[in-house]
Amino acid sequence: MAPQREWVDRDFYADLGVSSDATADQIKKAYRKLARELHPDANPGDTAAEERFKRVSEAHSVLADDAKRKEYDEMRKLMASGRFRGGAPGGGGFSGGGSPGGFGGAPGAGGFDIGDLFGDGGADVGDIFGGLFGGGGRSRGGAASSPRQRRGNDLETETTLAFRDAVKGTTVQLRVTSPSPCTTCHGSGAKPGTSPRTCSTCRGSGFVSRNQGHFGFSEPCSDCQGTGTKIDDPCSDCSGSGITVRPRTINVRVPQGVEDGQRIRLAGQGEAGRRGAPSGDLYVTVHVNADRVFTRIGNDLKVELPVSIAELVLGATVSVPTLDSSVGVKIPAGTSDGRTLRLKGRGVPKRSGGAGDLLVTVKVAVPAKLDDAALDAMRSYAAAERSSGFDPRDGWAR
Ligand SMILES: [Zn+2]
Ligand SMILES: [Zn+2]
Repeated sequence: MAPQREWVDRDFYADLGVSSDATADQIKKAYRKLARELHPDANPGDTAAEERFKRVSEAHSVLADDAKRKEYDEMRKLMASGRFRGGAPGGGGFSGGGSPGGFGGAPGAGGFDIGDLFGDGGADVGDIFGGLFGGGGRSRGGAASSPRQRRGNDLETETTLAFRDAVKGTTVQLRVTSPSPCTTCHGSGAKPGTSPRTCSTCRGSGFVSRNQGHFGFSEPCSDCQGTGTKIDDPCSDCSGSGITVRPRTINVRVPQGVEDGQRIRLAGQGEAGRRGAPSGDLYVTVHVNADRVFTRIGNDLKVELPVSIAELVLGATVSVPTLDSSVGVKIPAGTSDGRTLRLKGRGVPKRSGGAGDLLVTVKVAVPAKLDDAALDAMRSYAAAERSSGFDPRDGWAR
C-alpha cells in the first residue's frame, strides 16, 4: 500500500482523538465510539456530522491497517522534519491551509512545496515518493492527462409536501442560493468572446514533472493552479472563477409514493465546480404533512369510517373517500365495531405499477342526544334484544 497524496493534509490521529502512539486497541475503541455518535442514521440531515463521520472512517481505514499506518507515520516524520514550508510540524494538519482537500496549492502559497522534501535527496525519501506518486493516480506519463478538476460540493435542502401530493407525485419549485455557474461566461471563467487556453507550462495536464537526481516526480502546475488552463481575460462578473453565488429556482419532480423523511438526489444541482468543473449534487429531504382523512402504512392507506349502530346491525352501503374521489363500501349486516374492510388497489400507487389497498375501519358513532321517538324505539329495541337472547357479555371475563 502506497501513501496517498490526500494523507499529506490530514492528521488521522487527531481525527480519532488518539495520540500518535495509541495501540491498535485504543484506535479501534476510539473509532467505534465516534462512528456510533456520528453515524448518519443517528444524525439525519446533519452535514457536519456526516463530514466528520467520513473523516473518522478514513482515519480508521489507515490507522487500523498496520502497513498503511507505518507508511503514514513515516510520511509524518518526514513532514515534521521541517523540510517543508508553511505547515505546522506535529500540530494539526500538515499544510497551512493552502488549497482545500489536497495539496494543490502553489509553492509558497501556504501549501507545502514538494520540491523541498527532496532538497537533499535523502535515501528514505525516494521510497515515500515512489509510492506517493506511483500510487496517486495522476502521476507521470499517461495518467497525467486529466487536469485537477474539483467537483463542486453537494448541497442539502428540504421541502414539505401535502399528503396527497406526496402520494400522487408532484412538481415543486425549490429556491436555492448557492455557488452556481456564472451566467456571463457559462462557467468557463473567461471574458465572453474569449476562452481559456491550454496552459503551456503543463500542456493542460495540471501537473509538471521534475527530475531530481534519479527521482522523477510531478507536482501541481503553479502557472495554472493545477487546472490545466489559463485565462488571459477573466470574466468580470466572477473574476475568472466561473462561479457566482446567486439564487436559482429548480423544478423538482417528486415521484409518486414518496414517504416522509425520504431524500431525493438531484445529480449536478449542487454547488458549481470551479471553471466549469462538474457540479456537486443536491439532496432534497422531503417532509410530508399529515392528512385529515388518511394515514399511510407503506402503500396502504388507512381511513376510519364513522357508522351508526343501526348501520352495523342492519348492514348498509356507505360512501368512503379515496385519493381520487369516493367509493361505495358495503358493510355486511352484523359487522362488529372496529372491523377493518380491505378495498384492493385503492391505496397509494406503486412505482412498479398497481397500488396498495385502502383499509376502512368502522367505528360506531354513539348519538349523544336523541329525540323522544328515537329513545322510545331504542328502549323497545333493548327489550327485544334481551328477549331474543343476545347477551353482549356472554363468554366475557371467564
Ligand atoms: Zn464569469
Ligand atoms: Zn499548467
